Amino acid sequence: MSAIVQAEGLVKRYRAGGEEVRALDHVDLAIARGDFVVIAGRSGSGKTTLLNLLGALDAPDAGKLVVAGMDLVQADEAARAHFRLWRVGFVFQAYNLIRALSAWENAAFVLELRGVPKKERKKIAFAMLARVGLAGMEMRRADELSGGQQQRVAVARALAAKPELVLADEPTANLDRGNAESLVRLMRQLNEEEGITFILASHDPTVMAEARTLITLEDGRIVATESR
Ligand code: ADP
Ligand code: MG
Repeated sequence: MSAIVQAEGLVKRYRAGGEEVRALDHVDLAIARGDFVVIAGRSGSGKTTLLNLLGALDAPDAGKLVVAGMDLVQADEAARAHFRLWRVGFVFQAYNLIRALSAWENAAFVLELRGVPKKERKKIAFAMLARVGLAGMEMRRADELSGGQQQRVAVARALAAKPELVLADEPTANLDRGNAESLVRLMRQLNEEEGITFILASHDPTVMAEARTLITLEDGRIVATESR
């Protein structure tokens, strides 16, 4: 397995009212292609900051970062935007669906940004919704779906883009235990069957239990890396 993420000496600082916070403090990280990684650590440990750097949603202050073959430190904004659209899929805590659109339109959202024709978009979106266990729900409006179903639509949306890498920030935070378990099992299944690399940030024990590689952050530093 070759590395899909290579990071060396990653530093990210925030300034909050004159105080400097080191959200990431010299993080070295190598993640193998095809891995299922959970980044754990208590609130404020730097999980979201790290995921945002990996997804090119934000840029480091120092260090090296290569993700899916792209040097995210050297890349200009156009290259970073291209990377976000074509190389990674995102799943967020709050689902981030467009409420008034149907499940399939939400699942097809990234494809629309990419200019895929409607007929093709619909075909891919329906297939992805079936893949996440939502066959028959394609025409439902997002705001008529349960939290667990909405998060599955978000996973379908991430997958429709055929990414090498899916980044998920606290994906179970708004789900009850049963829905959290089935969502993580779905992600794990997609990882095993499609070979997609998953990197999840979560302090949910249900999620941590499914990790193949568990990385623990504390005050912006990696304090443990565990492979199972
Ligand atoms: P986690 O996701 O593990 O809860 P974060 O990455 O969100 O941690 O935050 C890491 C640290 O950086 C925390 O101390 C947090 O308060 C700080 N931080 C995060 N985002 C900002 C920001 N936009 N401005 C100032 N400080 C921030
Ligand atoms: Mg967070």
